[in-house]
Amino acid sequence: DNANLFAALRAAFPRDLDAVAVETDNGLFYSWRDLDRASAMIANLLDALGLEPGARIAVQVEKSVEAMMLYLATLRAGYVFLPLNTAYRSSEIEYFIGNAEPAVLVCSSANASWAAPLAQAAGTQHVFTLNDDRTGTLLELAAQCSDRHRVAIKGEDDLAAILYTSGTTGRSKGAMLTHGNLLSNARVLKDYWGWRSAEEGGDVLIHALPIFHVHGLFVAIHGALLNGSKMIWFAKYDPKRVIERLPDATVFMGVPTLYVRMLGERALDKKAVRNMRLFISGSAPLLIETFNAWTERTGHTILERYGMSETVMLTSNPYSPVQGQRRGGTVGFPLPGVQLRVRNERDEDCTTDEIGAIQVAGPNVFAGYWRMPEKTQEEFTADGFFKTGDVGKIDGLGYVTIVGRSKDLIISGGYNVYPAEIEGVINEMPGVAESAVIGAPHPDFGEVGVAVVIARAGAKLDPDQIIATLKAQMANFKIPKRCFVVDELPRNTMGKVQKALLREQHKGLFG
Ligand code: ATP
Ligand code: MG
Repeated sequence: DNANLFAALRAAFPRDLDAVAVETDNGLFYSWRDLDRASAMIANLLDALGLEPGARIAVQVEKSVEAMMLYLATLRAGYVFLPLNTAYRSSEIEYFIGNAEPAVLVCSSANASWAAPLAQAAGTQHVFTLNDDRTGTLLELAAQCSDRHRVAIKGEDDLAAILYTSGTTGRSKGAMLTHGNLLSNARVLKDYWGWRSAEEGGDVLIHALPIFHVHGLFVAIHGALLNGSKMIWFAKYDPKRVIERLPDATVFMGVPTLYVRMLGERALDKKAVRNMRLFISGSAPLLIETFNAWTERTGHTILERYGMSETVMLTSNPYSPVQGQRRGGTVGFPLPGVQLRVRNERDEDCTTDEIGAIQVAGPNVFAGYWRMPEKTQEEFTADGFFKTGDVGKIDGLGYVTIVGRSKDLIISGGYNVYPAEIEGVINEMPGVAESAVIGAPHPDFGEVGVAVVIARAGAKLDPDQIIATLKAQMANFKIPKRCFVVDELPRNTMGKVQKALLREQHKGLFG
């Protein structure tokens, strides 16, 4: 039996291989046969290179269907896929390539002049180019290869991909994910989110996320392929165009900012979503305000879920009302097969609603950080749970809420202050669009909170008033000592607020 993820995806292709598998927003149509043939040709090209087992295929290219085919080909040939954020420039790429030592680098023609020498210096033997207009050496060479390929035999524990974490809390780490991690998670989600079979009318996914992270690469692509469902593919997110295509789709997945931007469009209304079955959000916290505004405007309740590079998906709000309601501000229940617990400082299980460190175990949990055995060891408990680095709580009904990151926790005068609690209160104030609370070093208290607040369009905010309003509502040790109203928060490409940057900017405030 072959545990290769590609074998499972391929087995789920519909019987009619000439049906459309992917339709791009700029008018290209790819059939299931196209996916099968192209992945075979690229896999044959990789096989002809005579790479060692476990060889890494590093890929930094603009989003395209061909880039997805390269991912599928890498699985198919049994090598390890290593996607890199397209925003990374030479010093960042140098770190990743030096760290991962890929045997193959695929990059855009535009970047090849600097990326190829970097890779060669790190011992990479093969550099190919792939552009978002289907040009480049990768496809030129693959075109000469056979379009038949026998899927490599893999075990569950064999590596399928290395995903570098987003680097929100520090330097990115390479999370090693196995065929078993990815396939088990994909199967659980297929079931949990009620993907519809062809007999039930099928599903169509709008794919508008980048494909160098868990969300776009795994959750979205595996979801559609494992269900034999068509994707409507956007190389770049454009809220207007996505809204225009909603009537042709049933499922949408996005990070919170994608929802916020759609809400900014008047065309988003009940009519536009009439055929939609499911809106899913994740990767960063979805503001309750966005959650409510979405329901009001579309009649749909966004399903929020929680996951990370190291574990793929961990929790999800319920799909069916039989399982419970979708609750804004929570990330729902642990997925089937996932063990999730919250631990206090004494390393005991927290009681209901008590805040603590989230730890997880299950078939989805990664095989460790690439070439960081000590770090890997540190992040697992003696009984085999992975320490997620997220802080949260579980309520009486079993819903999990993320309160923040352990690294963002503020310890002020010996008390734990959870930024998300204060942010939640600030966000409720009139005229506030959003906020970030961070800790700054303080001579007396060790650390104190600093609030950075964004006003809604047209609103004027008074920082002193914000602090005064907080004082009326919560204990003194939680109150930020300073408040700044700014135009925007620093975010990484996944839309996550980069608190480390904010901390750096404000570290000198109190001398
Ligand atoms: P790094 O580990 O390098 O600091 P990162 O943790 O941001 O970066 P990812 O693995 O891409 O890198 O992101 C996982 C994190 O995203 C989770 O640990 C969690 O903090 C956050 N996250 C994901 N989904 C949600 C959600 N629905 N609500 C709140 N936070 C979420
Ligand atoms: Mg992380």
